[in-house]
Amino acid sequence: MNKNKNKNRQNTYFSLLTKITVTLFLCCAFLIGKLGFQLLGTLPDSGQSDLGNVFSQTSQAKNSQPEASASISPETDWELILVNRSNPIPKGYDVKLTQLRNNQSVDSRIYPSLQKMFDDMRAAGLTPVISSSYRTAEKQQSLLDEKIADYQKEGHSDKEAEKLAKAWVAVPGTSEHQLGMAVDITSTDRNSQNPSIIWEWLMKNSYKYGFILRYPEDKEEITNTIYEPWHYRYVGKTAAKEIYERQICLEEYLQ
Ligand SMILES: [Zn+2]
Repeated sequence: MNKNKNKNRQNTYFSLLTKITVTLFLCCAFLIGKLGFQLLGTLPDSGQSDLGNVFSQTSQAKNSQPEASASISPETDWELILVNRSNPIPKGYDVKLTQLRNNQSVDSRIYPSLQKMFDDMRAAGLTPVISSSYRTAEKQQSLLDEKIADYQKEGHSDKEAEKLAKAWVAVPGTSEHQLGMAVDITSTDRNSQNPSIIWEWLMKNSYKYGFILRYPEDKEEITNTIYEPWHYRYVGKTAAKEIYERQICLEEYLQ
């Protein structure tokens, strides 16, 4: 009797388990199908823009920390968010990305200005390219690890290597690249065009599009970052103009 009862119970469990498995499978299949259609519906507009031939596809990226920050208002202050060694990215910071063709992506809100700036650079005979833009925290960590390894190979101790690397590569959570509002700009072909010509143009003109040279040569002590002629940050046209005219850095502007 007991044996039969056990067997019945086992059968019931088995059939319940089967039902759950089938339901889960159907749910997954539905979701995968839906995602597939979404991706198909947002394939790149072929050859439409010079910047990166933009995918109209956007995606949400979120920092892994769970809570949202109350200190910044994403509606009004989003362009002026300060991220540096002492101001990490707020918890739960959300980025809506616009993807560019060369595997780069930026905060969708800065895309139109960035495109306009690239259009005008090209019209001026320049050959700019974005070598780095939005990065995940994982990507930032791997860049830092690579730099540390480079210094270790040169014979520096682990501690020294880490210190030297951190002068060049920001610790995850403290890089503006994780905002999607910073871009590193260089020349498509360093042989045919020296990137310094591009950087010169950017230094004079980027503010008109809302971008600033984020780490100027004479502000290293304030920014705590080595001069980076390639790194441009979007802050909006009003702030960019004032920062350009007063020759200050973002930290000074926000004081
Ligand atoms: Zn950069």
